[in-house]
Amino acid sequence: MPGSQAILEPANVCLDLFAALRLPVFASRDWHPKKHCSFSAQGGHLPEHCVAGTEGARFAAGLRLPASATVVSKGVSADTDAFSAFTDSDLDLHLSALGVQRLFIAGLSPDFGVLNAVVDALGWGYWVVLVSDAVVTVDQRLGDGARALAALQQAGVVAVRSAAFVGIDNKRRATRAKALETTISGVARAERPLARQG
Ligand SMILES: [Zn+2]
Repeated sequence: MPGSQAILEPANVCLDLFAALRLPVFASRDWHPKKHCSFSAQGGHLPEHCVAGTEGARFAAGLRLPASATVVSKGVSADTDAFSAFTDSDLDLHLSALGVQRLFIAGLSPDFGVLNAVVDALGWGYWVVLVSDAVVTVDQRLGDGARALAALQQAGVVAVRSAAFVGIDNKRRATRAKALETTISGVARAERPLARQG
């Protein structure tokens, strides 16, 4: 996908931090059967992609997913498409079992799956931080992604760039969580006036 290489390093910054802080990581992927309804050959709106078990369905080479990451597969049956990692998955169950209240979301999707996941996460009551330089969507019309992001910020999503997380994992264990909180709340304050302008 265009732009996918550019988000690798920002995504890795977050993954490294979460691994260092021993915070849970979930990795969602499209995992489609060969004749999936979203493929143009079946009348869908996308070229064939992410066929289960093939190279195209693998996580990007160079993405530093921790070994402890939980993989969530979506769109696994031929006749239904999952527009977000929360659709037809047990992601919410996993998260609530862990007592998770806040999600940091990054990733890429041709069909807005990442942004749909943000909308679903808000609906489930999570506080959502979108790592803005680690997200790619393909604009069906120019500016789609930017408009969607602006709407999400209006809805309470905090957008933060990965640079804000650099160095937190080098701090002493006791001060890491506090550093993360300070970073996020600082960003949240800075974002609010922006969101109002929308
Ligand atoms: Zn798909």
